[in-house]
Amino acid sequence: MKIKNIHTRRLFRLDLQSRLAVGFLVATCLTGVFATLVSLWTINRNTIAEVQNRVRQDINTAKLIYNYKSEQIKSVIQFAAESSDLQDLINRNDVYGMGYMAGQIRKNAQNNFGNGNVILDMLTLVDARGRVIYRAANPKAAGDSLLHDSLVKTCIENKKPVASTELMSLKEILKENPSLAKKATIDIIKTPLAAEIDKDKLTDGMVMKAAYPIMDRNADMLLGVLIGGVLINNDNEIVDQIKETVYHGEKYQGRQMGVATIFQGGVRISTNVMTEDNKRAIGTILSKEVYDRVIVEEKDWAGRAFVVNDWYITTYTPIFNINKKIIGVLYTGILEAKYRDIKWEMIWINLGITVYGMLIAFIISLRLGNNIIERIKILKRGTEAIASGNLDYKLSPDKVSGFNMLDEAFNDMARSLKEHNDQLQRMHQHLAKTEKLTAMGEMAAGVAHEINNPLGGILLYSSLVLEDLPENSPVRDNIQKIIYQTNRCKDIVQGLLDFSRTPTGEMVPLQANQVITTSLNLVKDQAMFHGIEIESRFQENLPEIMGDRSRLEEVFLNLFINAADAMNGKGKLTITTGIGQNNCVKISISDTGKGVDKALLVHIFEPFFTTKEPGRGTGLGLSIVYGIIKRHKGTIDAESEKDKGTTFIITLPVHKNNNSIEKDNASCE
Ligand code: ADP
Repeated sequence: MKIKNIHTRRLFRLDLQSRLAVGFLVATCLTGVFATLVSLWTINRNTIAEVQNRVRQDINTAKLIYNYKSEQIKSVIQFAAESSDLQDLINRNDVYGMGYMAGQIRKNAQNNFGNGNVILDMLTLVDARGRVIYRAANPKAAGDSLLHDSLVKTCIENKKPVASTELMSLKEILKENPSLAKKATIDIIKTPLAAEIDKDKLTDGMVMKAAYPIMDRNADMLLGVLIGGVLINNDNEIVDQIKETVYHGEKYQGRQMGVATIFQGGVRISTNVMTEDNKRAIGTILSKEVYDRVIVEEKDWAGRAFVVNDWYITTYTPIFNINKKIIGVLYTGILEAKYRDIKWEMIWINLGITVYGMLIAFIISLRLGNNIIERIKILKRGTEAIASGNLDYKLSPDKVSGFNMLDEAFNDMARSLKEHNDQLQRMHQHLAKTEKLTAMGEMAAGVAHEINNPLGGILLYSSLVLEDLPENSPVRDNIQKIIYQTNRCKDIVQGLLDFSRTPTGEMVPLQANQVITTSLNLVKDQAMFHGIEIESRFQENLPEIMGDRSRLEEVFLNLFINAADAMNGKGKLTITTGIGQNNCVKISISDTGKGVDKALLVHIFEPFFTTKEPGRGTGLGLSIVYGIIKRHKGTIDAESEKDKGTTFIITLPVHKNNNSIEKDNASCE
């Protein structure tokens, strides 16, 4: 668990690219394993299971062929029993007359081998008590009883033909036919996986036998029994017939695909399974597993089994004798190699595809990883640029790699950051300006108050002195200058007070267009406006504003006079009205005058700021204008370009309808 954790942690410590590569590899590997398992499962299900089914059917065909052979033997015996005057020969005990029967016997093991006709290995006639009258393959041996033979006994008792496969001791076999010595002898060959049989040679043989009762002419008395049989040991006719019929001799890589075997006990006595040196595997033993199941438990076996030197898909079925005792096994099987090879081929193909897929995945992940990392680096550079204050930094959207989404988002972010930053800066400037002007206004008001009284005193006393002076006094002129200058001072002080004072007049609903027109009428005929073209672009039906008429007139007069000053008697004055932001009335006053330096523009609303020569300007005009607009909860801003002109933009809150429950506290700030 701990180790696993360490591994997992290590994996997470890998850089992005390695992690991508590992991820891709694991994914393809898992897919490959999964695909292999699925195809194996499919092969097993469809192919192996199908073959097993087929083999199960094959054993039935094999059984049919086996039984057919038994039936054939029965027919041959019947034919021999019925074909001649056997009854007469028995009645007359004419052993010589029975000599013809020797024609049915196989002369030696090689002769007539597998030619399709049934050639018997033994043919014996017994009397009704089971005593041997004539042995076709061994005429000299006669007179012994065969009643111990279950088949003979059953036939005598039931007087009916019977057939079965029986075990006979080697001695009995040789008595029946001495020339069978070679055919009957089988050496047992022991192999590692085989069942244990502690014998070196088989001491008996398996004989497919039939017995036929011979009745007298009235068919009511048993005269004897004719018994014949074929020794299966070393006789491959049945198994080869099974092979040909069921598997059509199909071969795979030089080996027989389908094979059949007859076992006596657990030993192969008739087979077409080949050993490595290409001999029939006669004498080899059943595998232990199958032996236990079929011979010991007397049950069928179906499935994989190791046969001699290879794996087969097999079926085994027991062979019983007439007493229902198991004596052997019949087997058919198909070489598994073909299906195993298909399976391996499939595994290799799958593995190949997986490895190939992993290779491709690896290359793709490398390229993809590189791309991603490259884009991340670009993004990092971008964020660093933004962090260092370069809000104009832009990424060029990369449409190919699909990162444009991120690039666009980044650019959007930068844009909105810049907008916010600009807004903040503007707000900051505005606030700083407002604060400065407010502070100045307070100071100016204080100073003005303090100076106003002494100025009143100076004016009063200098007027009194003037009154008392004779008409021709030379001092009189000086006193008059004092009074004039003091009055000027008073005007200035009044201006300062105006800058910081709240509107004194009544706040009434006003038509902005009208107030502007009145102010314009006051100045337009004066000499300084003679060369100036005036254009009014008024929006009709503007909502009313709340304001002090005379103070607002003062604002416009000031602005018009400043404009005329700046244009020096030549140019164009444009007055525009309309609705601006926050539903405020917006008034712009533009001239084509000399403009203001950018550096000075921020100062123009400050009291005493003037660019005019001493005596011509006090620098109080715009600060008074600012004060008045401020007190109307409006805003005033100036835009200017040197030598091109200046525009003053005023916004004023509109007067709320009388019916409205809202109070008149709207603001354009
Ligand atoms: P004053 O007119 O007595 O100088 P103001 O407060 O009215 O005082 O104006 C301050 C300064 O603002 C002026 O000296 C001038 O430099 C500048 N200014 C005002 N209006 C304009 C304008 N329309 N065009 C150019 N400059 C202007």
